Amino acid sequence: MTLPEFFQFSQGSLQDYVDCPRRFQLKYIEQLAWPAVDTEPALENEQFLQLGAAFHRLVQQYLIGVPSEKLTRLAERDIQLAHWWENFLAEARKMDDWKAGQLYPEISLSAPLSDFRLVGKFDLLTANANKFIIYDWKTSRKQPKREWIAANLQTRVYPYLLACAGTHLNAGKSIEPAQIEMIYWFANFPATPLHFPYSEAQHQADEEFIDGLIVEIRALSAEPAPLTENEKRCHYCVYRSLCNRGIAAGPLESLEEDRTADMFDFDLDFEQIAEIEF
Ligand code: SF4
Repeated sequence: MTLPEFFQFSQGSLQDYVDCPRRFQLKYIEQLAWPAVDTEPALENEQFLQLGAAFHRLVQQYLIGVPSEKLTRLAERDIQLAHWWENFLAEARKMDDWKAGQLYPEISLSAPLSDFRLVGKFDLLTANANKFIIYDWKTSRKQPKREWIAANLQTRVYPYLLACAGTHLNAGKSIEPAQIEMIYWFANFPATPLHFPYSEAQHQADEEFIDGLIVEIRALSAEPAPLTENEKRCHYCVYRSLCNRGIAAGPLESLEEDRTADMFDFDLDFEQIAEIEF
């Protein structure tokens, strides 16, 4: 079996492959839906995901010009959401470069990748004074360590994608990697965003790394791909019973403690948000 024609890679699918080749194979090549929850209690996890999606939607509406008073009334329906929203508004009011520059909330980019495409959707891209900043909002309960985020595929794929596919945002000129920065802003920890400036050297390294992953993925045969050696990942994977890696879903309360440098699956991305009914 091979990947479907016109398959589009994303940071999420590449992360799945890096985390566990078998998971990638089951999810994207065999497209196997498996009736299991990934985290318990499922309802609480679902509610947390819903709140995160609601927060992203509020921010997007603010950035396209919906009056903040109107959005605040929506946010006040939930204590947690109201807290995140209050933190965001305080931050947004300080962001002078947002007022001076061009804002692209929820912008999608796409670039060729081997015979496929690489796609990504950013929470916000700002362009100001020759500088391009990718913002990503995180609603995680704990602030992950910087090295965990640095190792996450999102931190590599998004700036790489902007450098490859952002010409139309820069008056027809390529965006140089040194013009790019990625910022993670944490709704629960507004004073400690994490900044990741990009560079030509990092861009080269990311290109080699991503191309290498595609070569490996194309070489997958119909045989089961290797299972992850980090069985903690299996606790939160819907395929665990299929792989004989347990039956019960991992507990939500331990999810963030279980995240380690090589098991990093933090917070929402747009692939998940799109699946959550808002
Ligand atoms: S249960 Fe574990 S080994 Fe199986 S696909 Fe999921 S992460 Fe991979």
